[in-house]
Amino acid sequence: MIKALLPMLLISGLASAAECGPDKLNTERTITLKREGVAYGAHQHTALPLADKEVVLTFDDGPSQENTPLVLKALADQCTKATFFLIGEHITQQPELARRLIREGHSTGIHSNTHPHLASLPVEQQLDDLARSRAAYQAVFGVETPAYRFPFLEETPAMLAALKQANITVASIDLGINDWIPEDTTDILARRLTESLDKAGRGIILMHDANGPTAKALPTLLKVLKDKGYKVVHLEWEKAK
Ligand SMILES: [Zn+2]
Repeated sequence: MIKALLPMLLISGLASAAECGPDKLNTERTITLKREGVAYGAHQHTALPLADKEVVLTFDDGPSQENTPLVLKALADQCTKATFFLIGEHITQQPELARRLIREGHSTGIHSNTHPHLASLPVEQQLDDLARSRAAYQAVFGVETPAYRFPFLEETPAMLAALKQANITVASIDLGINDWIPEDTTDILARRLTESLDKAGRGIILMHDANGPTAKALPTLLKVLKDKGYKVVHLEWEKAK
């Protein structure tokens, strides 16, 4: 029985290796961060230790029933991995889709519970949104979130202190493609990505998997990265103790 299965396993192994060959973007390497209250992203903090032409793919505001599956397909087609910063209310509504991200080898963090402008809220409400987002993450994934990305990248002293205290990494960005405009076309997004990359040369890229035009454009955007010689670094965190 085992002998009969073996050739099949070998064939399927070879097939997937061929599909993820050098013509695909792939993942060049993984950085595993400690669970500690540090902050990364040159837009606001220390840059991640990346070499020239190394990029980290990140997606905010999901999961979206309509658009996140398209993003997952585009990433799988290029054999590459990303990090998703999820909204608490969205994962509570769609826990299966959220867990699919982990099953497919991606990493996740939280991006607030309701995506408020934290800086315009009283401290008590800021911390309440944080507590709710952490509870939502814990309920869906069974562990504490290792990382937090601020909605609108709007940081506040009270939130930064609370995240540090909880050993949650603040994940800012190095570059983005301003992909929240619903009218954007694939050509526009590809041009913005090229311009941002030409300027920054490396870093954490912010995109939005909940945004329809981004999901539609992603196969092209990943091709831009491949054609321009960029390498994907996958960001992960050590497991919760
Ligand atoms: Zn957002």
